[in-house]
Amino acid sequence: MKYYPDPILKLINSLSKLPGIGKKTAERLALHILHAPNHEAVTLAADIIELKNSIRLCTVCFALSDKDKCRICSDPLRDKSLICVVENPTDMAAIEKSNAFSGTYHILGGALSPIDGIGPDDIRIKELFKRADPEKIKEIILATKTNVEGEATASYILEKLKKTKIRITRIASGIPMGSDLQYIDQLTMQKAMEKRYGF
Ligand SMILES: [Zn+2]
Repeated sequence: MKYYPDPILKLINSLSKLPGIGKKTAERLALHILHAPNHEAVTLAADIIELKNSIRLCTVCFALSDKDKCRICSDPLRDKSLICVVENPTDMAAIEKSNAFSGTYHILGGALSPIDGIGPDDIRIKELFKRADPEKIKEIILATKTNVEGEATASYILEKLKKTKIRITRIASGIPMGSDLQYIDQLTMQKAMEKRYGF
């Protein structure tokens, strides 16, 4: 690829760092961008800069947002007395796609994993407990992954909250053990939400 001028090589190099993009695809994309109309290339570059400058975490649920409060937390139609606890924004997106849930979320930013040295202070569990006001919250749905770390995280939260008046439930049915929520199909996710169980 040495025959390309430096700006093209630089773009190929940057693009090939994206997940799932090898050198060949990066080369094809770089040449596509080169030949695209000027405004398309400029928009792409501007979109990336805007994304990096404007996206932050919702101050309530820690979802990705371009405002202080995310779209879900500021939606009057969402039931604020329901909190669905997930590990990552992609898990939240998977549940949203299923249209099975009309409450709010809490994004932990990971799961407990003593082996990797990840304890309660390393994810947003304290922030969840702070939100868990029995006067305002009716139910907390634990939708962490169904692998060892996800189960450990759910158990930890349950243990801490079971003395409160809040109903604690766990999504279950239909989700294969050890699976990543972002790869669950819509129907399975709907069933899992419908058949969540209490403790
Ligand atoms: Zn939010």
